[in-house]
Formats: sequence, C-alpha cells, structure tokens
Amino acid sequence: MTRRLVFEGAYVATVDAAGSEFAAGHVVVDDSRIVAVGDGPAPEWAGRASGDVTVERIDARGRLLTPGLVNTHHHLYQWLTRGIAQDSILFDWLVALYPTWARIDETLVEAGAEAGLSVLAKSGCTLAADHHYVFPAGSGDILGGIVRAAARVGIRLHGTRGSMDLGRSAGGLPPDFAVETTSAALEASAVAVEKYHDASPDAMTQIALAPCSPFSVTSDLLREAAVLGRSLGVRLHTHGSETVEEDAFCQERFGKTPTQYLDDLGWLGDDVWMAHSVHLDEHAIARFGSTGTGSAHCPSSNARLAAGIAPIPQLLAAGAPVGLGVDGSASNESGQLGTEIRQAVLMNRLRAGADGFSVRDGLRIATIGGARVLGRDADLGSIEVGKLADLALWDVSGVEFAGLVDPVAALGLASMPPVAGLFVGGDRVVTDGRLTTVDEVGVAEAAARATTELLGRV
Ligand SMILES: [Zn+2]
Repeated sequence: MTRRLVFEGAYVATVDAAGSEFAAGHVVVDDSRIVAVGDGPAPEWAGRASGDVTVERIDARGRLLTPGLVNTHHHLYQWLTRGIAQDSILFDWLVALYPTWARIDETLVEAGAEAGLSVLAKSGCTLAADHHYVFPAGSGDILGGIVRAAARVGIRLHGTRGSMDLGRSAGGLPPDFAVETTSAALEASAVAVEKYHDASPDAMTQIALAPCSPFSVTSDLLREAAVLGRSLGVRLHTHGSETVEEDAFCQERFGKTPTQYLDDLGWLGDDVWMAHSVHLDEHAIARFGSTGTGSAHCPSSNARLAAGIAPIPQLLAAGAPVGLGVDGSASNESGQLGTEIRQAVLMNRLRAGADGFSVRDGLRIATIGGARVLGRDADLGSIEVGKLADLALWDVSGVEFAGLVDPVAALGLASMPPVAGLFVGGDRVVTDGRLTTVDEVGVAEAAARATTELLGRV
C-alpha cells in the first residue's frame, strides 16, 4: 500500500542546484520519498487513489514549502541551563557552567533534549545534529536518552559522542572533575557507534565522534578519535576558531592557529565539520575549501557571546560546505532554527555588505548546505524527485506577511512564519504550529522539573 501526499498551490522553494522556485507549485510524495515537483497543479495521475494507493491532498495556498531545515550544531542538554552567565564571553561562561553540567545524568538530559528537539521541530527543523561532550561518571546512557527523545519527537538525529580529557591541572579549561580519561572516551565512542549509528540512506539516527574543543581535549584524543571515526566510517565534529581567546590558547600552547593545529592532527577533510569557524585567516579559509571541511554557522550564539562574525561568504566562495546551527541552548536561549536564517542574513551583511549574503543564501545554508555538512545531501536538503520527503510548510497568510512581495523573504527578513506542517520522511511531526508526536505541555513540564532538579544539585 502506497501512502501519497499531494501538496498543491504552495510557493515552492526547492533549493535545488538551479534554485528552482514555483509561485503556485506542487509536490507529490509516495511514502517517504518525493515523486513529483513542479509548477501548477499536480499531474492528474497523482490524484488517483486505488486499491494500492491512498491519497491525501494538502491545500497549500498561502503557504511557503521549503526543504526541512537542518541544524548542524547544538548541545541539547543545555536546555536545562538557560539564562545563566548572561553577560560573559565564552571562556568565563564555560567556567561558570561546568560545575552544573558535571551533575547531569541520562534522565535529566533526556527531558532537556525532548524540549530542545520540540522547539527545533516547531521552527522547521527535520534533521538535528547534537554535540554532547559531558559524561559524568555514573550518569547512565546519556546518548541513549537523546536518541530516545529524538525518536519520540520524530525528527532525524545526528548525535555525537563528544568528550573532554584535558582538565585544568593539565592546562585545559574544564575542571578536572568534568573530564574523562583519553582511553575511556575512545572506548565509549566506539560503543556509541556500534549501538546507535545507522548508515542507511534514510537513517533516522547517525553518530559522529566529537572531542569538544582544542582547549578541553588533548592532542592524543583528537588524533586517535579521527583515526577511530574513519575506521568506523562515521563523521568527525568539534568546535574550532570560535573566539580570540581560543586563538591565543593555541598560539601559546602549540605555536599554531586552531586550524593549523587541527590540520596537523588529521582534522580537516570532507568527513569533518567544525562549529563556528569565526576567526579564520585566508590560509584557513583556503584549506577549508580545498579539503571540503564543513562549518556550522551559529550567528545568534556568536553574537550572544560576542565571539565575532564568521566569514561565511568567503567560506562559500572557497567551495567549503556551510550549514546553519542554533548552538547549545545556554548560549542561544531561543533554540529556534527558523529564526537563525534571518540572523545569518543580518549578521553576515555587517561584514560582507548588503549584497554580500542574500535571503536565498540563508535558506541554502539552512537546508542543502547543512545536509552536505552532515553528509546527507544525496537524500536530504532540497525538494527534488527521489529525495526523502523532509518538508517544512510555512503559513505566510497572516498579517505579518500581508503584502510581502517575496515569500522566501518571510524567513530571511521578516518574522519566522508559523509551521503549518512539518514532515519527516512523509510523516507528520507538526500541524498548525503544534507537535503531533508528543504532548507539548508534558514536555515543557518535564524540562522545567529537570532544570530545578539539576540546579538543586549544585
Ligand atoms: Zn557549541
């Protein structure tokens, strides 16, 4: 039995290579994949139900249809520590938060992750990467909690097994009680891949290895995690070139920029993506381009921590993959991905000029760009025949958008429209702005209770 969805009348922004858009277009989905896209009403065959085909027609007039958005960097556990250290730069903010983070466990993280993933879904996200790197002794299967939360919300998860093994006594930033040993981190990384990674094209869960950052991880762990990840066929992720303080740390300790340092440890390549990429010199930008190293652009977090403005237009010009990210909820309390498109457009123009980063550049990094960063662009990131039906249907019929001559500018310049429908592999996750998969009130109450519990432990 084939389950068919027929969208008609939408403004369709396909984000295919040609940037095809249809002012009143159609998209037809059979089960989990797209089977037709084009201008005007759907072809006559699409509406024909039979013994083998059920047809659901979706009147999408007054709607903008885009690929589902891809979040390339998050720390979902931070949903439990929002609004803290509000006026700090990264290093001071981290030092303020580490003692609390060191008291998390599987149950608390699962509650926080379910809230964070719910907000992502409600803001158009169908695929989310999460960078988890705090694993206190005896805290249970934290990664398993995040995987379960994503399964309940119904969006795709690229979880990472992160790690920290460079405590303060060894010259790192985190306190010693917040770090693991190098061997424990590597062993747990292999277990996480074995347990949760699905390499199939329509995977709902994938795993990457993600030592946290140059100032919280030893060179040995970075080098060996890269070898391990490649031997297991999974991607590699870390923070890189986020702040001037990180740059100074690497110059002082290694006599190199963060990019030179990571490059020497095997950490540039088309299976690697870095969060932030703010402080890159011309040499680093060229290396990102020639190696295909990806970046997760997190404009709100970069602004909140006053980290700087990433050279996104230059990275794109160099041919480097770039995706959009919300970053952890403790440095971007909103946690919404849809609003980051506008944030990216506005922020990049401060550096690149009014014509240096367009609304469509913003939508592109939020969709196909992110899919490329996560290695899923063959199946996700654009509305094209054969791709998975991960779709966001935005309601642009309200007064906020009345008279707006370009529906795509709703996302890039106006306010984020309500999500009329969110589909992951053709399955509904959001309808008329409400999650259909989980009880939103229950999720909110559980996250608030978990926050109280965690803060009470400090
Ligand atoms: Zn981060």
